[in-house]
Amino acid sequence: MSISENYIKIRQEIPSHVTIVAAVKTKTTPEILELIDAGIKDIGENYIQELEQVSGELGTRKNEITMHMIGHLQSNKINKALKYCDTIQTIDSVKKAIAINNKIENSSKIIFPVLISVNIAEETAKHGVAPDFEEIQKVAECISQQKYLKLEGLMTLGPFGHTPEQLRPYFKKMKQFNDKLRLLNLPNTEIKTLSMGMSNSYKVAIEEGSNMVRLGTILLGPRNY
Ligand SMILES: *Cc1c(COP(=O)(O)O)cnc(C)c1O
Repeated sequence: MSISENYIKIRQEIPSHVTIVAAVKTKTTPEILELIDAGIKDIGENYIQELEQVSGELGTRKNEITMHMIGHLQSNKINKALKYCDTIQTIDSVKKAIAINNKIENSSKIIFPVLISVNIAEETAKHGVAPDFEEIQKVAECISQQKYLKLEGLMTLGPFGHTPEQLRPYFKKMKQFNDKLRLLNLPNTEIKTLSMGMSNSYKVAIEEGSNMVRLGTILLGPRNY
């Protein structure tokens, strides 16, 4: 099946309240344009270099989509992320939140939506806040105090090498964290997004409360590294 057929099929299969973010790392602009032509509204980039290149090549077509930063963001790349992204899903510390807020003063963005990334299985090789509600709350409270940031929820990558059923308990835990976060009723905060589920796991993630899935391989085919 073609890229657009893949997208249309999955879009029809999953509930309409679930946002599909195309995870386009290593993919070309023509491939991304095929998705946009098929109706996708959300694109996720992992690497600043690709983000910059694709943004340039999309030109005004970029106005049709929301660009998400879904990869780990290094502090020295914040300016570029802000220039080319509409939202960052990978806030992983108080320090990062403050650094991003401080850079926004110099950019054209006024209120910038963000998610906190959670390292749900506490893997040493992964970034993200520890899977401990107190830790998440600390970062959330900090974001809520930042003038230019608006916290909208949580994201997780989930551990690799697991079957969807093995991932289910992690997704459940993420849903509980997001619900608890909403109950805090922090100022300037609207907890409405739970970003979890990838090509192999999106169905289980949706069953467990995800309303934003990030799909790469299943839409665009295997990546060429
Ligand atoms: C690559 C990537 C995805 C998509 O992975 P697939 O398994 O190809 O669907 C989702 N989220 C993030 C953060 C990624 O880096």
